[in-house]
Amino acid sequence: MNFKLVVASGNSSKLTEIRQMVPQSFEIVSMKELGFTGDIPETADSFSGNALIKARFISNKFAVNCLADDSGLEVEALDGRPGVFSARFAGPGSSDQQNIDRLMAEMEGVTNRKARFVAVLALVLGDREFLFEGFVNGTIAPKQVGNAGFGYDPVFIPEGYSQTFGLLSSEVKNRLSHRRMAMDKLVAFLNHTLLQ
Ligand code: IMP
Repeated sequence: MNFKLVVASGNSSKLTEIRQMVPQSFEIVSMKELGFTGDIPETADSFSGNALIKARFISNKFAVNCLADDSGLEVEALDGRPGVFSARFAGPGSSDQQNIDRLMAEMEGVTNRKARFVAVLALVLGDREFLFEGFVNGTIAPKQVGNAGFGYDPVFIPEGYSQTFGLLSSEVKNRLSHRRMAMDKLVAFLNHTLLQ
């Protein structure tokens, strides 16, 4: 039996990553496939708050089980910025490249390069809500390398590696990533709680 989950994200790279991570018994449906292509304002000041806003919105609008993700990069020397502003660090509507440029400009000459990616998944099943968190520690590279992945991947070196996510394969990234850790928690929860 397939368990259908709508993912409240317009980011096709994230949908691809989520589809690669869940067992085949899960049918992952995008909001676009439901006919929704609008933007859901992310007005909370935390990843969990924003993930819940998106999951509740789609769940209420279409009466479906819904999964939403909010994620971003936290840089220690920048007091956790860009954080919830990761997607718009260089201003509203900014591109991945513009965000990387802003980050590298702020990190110029900074010796503490420690950073982490954070992902929070919010699951809304009827009137029940659940949160799952994941992290990957690493450092901000001295310069941008590679063009695999998306977002800040070309400037993030995960702990235990010497190359950025922009150079590492998607298999490696999907094994290590913040989204993977959160997804593993979600899948274990669904398997144990719902699909017994
Ligand atoms: P969201 O779509 O609101 O979750 O925004 C997340 C933003 O954080 C993205 O636009 C990227 O800039 C950044 N981000 C989140 N996850 C990743 C990742 O796995 N690699 C690179 N950048 C990421």
